[in-house]
Parts: sequence; C-alpha cells; structure tokens
Amino acid sequence: MLRTVIDADSLPPLHAPTVVDVTVEYFENLIVSGALHPGALLPSERRLAESLDVSRVSLRSAIAKLSAKGVLIADGRTTAVTNVSAALISAEARQTGSFSAADAWEFWSFLSVEAAAIATERHTRVDSVSLDQSQTHLLTGNWDEAEEQTDRLLNYLEKVCATAYNFFYTQVYIALNTALRPIVANRLGEIGKETELRQSFVSSINDAHLCFINRDREGLRDAFAALCSFLEPGKGDVIRFPTSEHTTSASRAQAMSQLVEHFRNSAMSPGQTLPSVETLAQATGIATTALREAIAALDALEVVRIDKKEVVSLLRTDLPDSSAPLLSLILKRPDAVRQVYEFREVLEVHASYMAARNSGADIAPMRAELKQALEISEEQYAQADVKLHNRIAHMCGNTVAAIVSDALMPIFLKVTQEWFRLHSESYGDLDIIHRQHEEIVNAIEARDSASAADAMGVHLNYVVQAMRAAEERDRLMRISTLRSHFG
Ligand SMILES: [Zn+2]
Repeated sequence: MLRTVIDADSLPPLHAPTVVDVTVEYFENLIVSGALHPGALLPSERRLAESLDVSRVSLRSAIAKLSAKGVLIADGRTTAVTNVSAALISAEARQTGSFSAADAWEFWSFLSVEAAAIATERHTRVDSVSLDQSQTHLLTGNWDEAEEQTDRLLNYLEKVCATAYNFFYTQVYIALNTALRPIVANRLGEIGKETELRQSFVSSINDAHLCFINRDREGLRDAFAALCSFLEPGKGDVIRFPTSEHTTSASRAQAMSQLVEHFRNSAMSPGQTLPSVETLAQATGIATTALREAIAALDALEVVRIDKKEVVSLLRTDLPDSSAPLLSLILKRPDAVRQVYEFREVLEVHASYMAARNSGADIAPMRAELKQALEISEEQYAQADVKLHNRIAHMCGNTVAAIVSDALMPIFLKVTQEWFRLHSESYGDLDIIHRQHEEIVNAIEARDSASAADAMGVHLNYVVQAMRAAEERDRLMRISTLRSHFG
C-alpha cells in the first residue's frame, strides 16, 4: 500500500462556524425546506434556547441577524417568519398601483392548479391527515360567516400548496392569497346565500380533495380549476398588493445607509477594520445603540463582518439591493436553486403558451439582442437570457405574471449567472442554449402556443439537467485537485 504524508499546508482552510452561524443556518434551512412557512410564530426565547440547547445570548444574536436579513420579523414580544418573496412582489406591485383582480385571479388559479398537481405526487401521510382535518373544518363551517369561511378555505388551499414543498410556490401563493382575500370573501358571501350554488361549491371541494388524496394528477387539474372558477371576480374589480410587513424599520435603514456613506466618504476600503462605536458615533452623529443595531444588520447583509473578538471589518462599501436576503438564502443551497427552476418552469411554460396565443408583437429586436450577446461574452448572454424570459412574461398578457417575473428577476439573473459560471469550461453549452432560445422565439412569432410551451419546457429542463452535471463535475474536480496536492 502506498503511504504518503499529507502536506499540512495543502489542506483547504477550515472555517469553523460559530454557534450563532449554526443557529442562523438552522432556521434558514427550516424556512427554505418549507418546514417553517411565512407567518409561523417562533416559541418564546427561553423555550427555544432550551430546546435547541444554545445560550439565550447566541439565540438572540442569531434572531437579530435573521431579522436584519428580513427572514424573520421580531417586534420585541413575538418573532415570526416573513414572506421574503412577497416583500419583493409587493414592492414591485406598488409601482404598478392597483391592477385588475381578474389578472390576479387568473394567475392565482393557474398557480393553484399547478402547485396542487405537483403536490399530488409529494404529499406524505402526515400531510394527508392534516389536509383531511383542514377540509372537514372548512366543510363543517358556517357558510353565513363569509370572513371565517374565507380563512378556512385559504388555509386549506395553502396547505395543499405547501405539500408541493417548493419555497417559491408557497411564498408567492400566500402573497396572492393575501391580495385576493377581499375578493374571495366577497364571492364566498354570495355562495353562502344561495343553497344550490353552495352545494355545488361544496361538491367541487370534495372532488378536488378526493383527487388530491388519491394522487389522481389529471383529475385534479380539472377539479381544482373548477373549484377556482367559483371564485372568479367581477370584470371591473381591482386589487392592491398589501404593503409588506417586514421591511427593516425606517430609522435602522437610515442609520445603515448613513454608515455606508460614511465609509465611502472617509475612503475606507474592504478589509479595513472599523473604528470603535464611540468614534463612529462622533463622526456620524448616530446614537451608539442605533449604531450597534445598524452594524449588526450590516453584518447580516455581509457588508461588514464581526469576528469572535467583536472586531468589525469592512467587506464592501455599498448596500446590497432588496433581493439580497432572498439571494443569500438560495445561492448556497443547491436544493433551493432547483426550486427556483421548478417555479420558473411552471411560470414560464405557461407564459410562453400565452405569449404565443396573445402576442402579435415584433420580436425581431429580441432575437437580434440575443444574437449580439452571443458574440460578446457569457456574462452578457446571461443578462440577455434573463431579459428574454422576462419579456415573454410581459408578452403573456397577465399583469400579475409580469409583476412576479419582474420581482424575482434579480434572483433569476443571479442563478443564471451562476449557471454560466459553472459552464464556462464547456463552451458548447452556450450554442445549445442559444438554439433553444431561438426555437422559443420562433414558436411565439408563429403564434404556435403548443410549440412555444414545449420549447420552453425543453429549455428549462435542459438547464436543470446541465446544472446537475456541472455540480457533479465541480465536486469531482475539487476532490481530484486535493488528491493531487496530497501526492
Ligand atoms: Zn433561457
């Protein structure tokens, strides 16, 4: 047997995580896996510290970090899980103002059916028991109480959606439910008043539930579409997305941007150690307590780093944009990246279908842009790629689909850039991707909706498969490099 002594210097660095890091990661994993859904309340600090076996100091600073990232919201008394995707969507939707409830409903129905279809294959026994209870709760409710029944119905539907185990489905779905709630309550009020209508609504719930429990995916599509059709809003109804509850408090946000500006003005550069809090307080005029909070928040956003000895060093001199919290949740988790593509597949296959059906737009400029990007660099191509997909979402004729696509575009872009980075070795991929894009564009131009949907499905599927292969190649590469070091 060959025996070699490993050169200690060639070992990769060991970054030992702190208890706070581990606690942050623990909650992030629970959130991304869907075990903790938006709105879930955490137990008290004392109970949580006890059951996780961490000190209350560590727990408190982990929660502070998660709150600074916008993943949790703590008001001093309770701590709840936020809806990070909804925050992005509401910000985007506010720019549009109010929009047609019919669009929101159409997109919501589509998402309900698709999420439920995926969920038929994934729900577990535990899920079925909980869904049975939730359905019974809904059916035995008092139909004269429209508000209460609305809560029960949305709760049931959210549970179905959650069993698809896709972080984006759940978050976007809950956001839509909140926006559509007044419309649903209104419709349920009408349904409650008319005996016949109510009976057929109840039987549509029963049909949908049976298909779901029996994993009858095709039957479920029809049954869920029928259920959703009962809740169609009136022609002229408009809705607004509610303002998001989680945005960092205005004063903390101000202190954060003031601090970052100060770093820039005093020509500090990444890697430098920050002066003491007292010195910073004097220089910026911000109170020391507010400063400490702002620094903790900047640490969570990876603008500064606080080490174990409380020394603060600067990592960058600009504030990340509002999609940073969501990105930080996703990029380090391959599983979450796959969830992004699963969500995109559903959203964009439908968008391509609708775009081909509705649009008579001139798409020559779009085509030219892609071709040009192909000749410049992969980085440019990644941007052109995401822009193309976003344009298709806009061409599909549904405002809400466009808003969701706009809101999640920074996420899609980052994931796509990462994809191209992983593929930089095998250049052949870019040509394949480009041909796939051309096929989608051709089908939309020819108004061939079935082919457009097909082409988009093939494209996104290829991307996911290739991503898996690249991950595996990367892993083997790392190991073989290490092995060659060890001789
Ligand atoms: Zn693409």
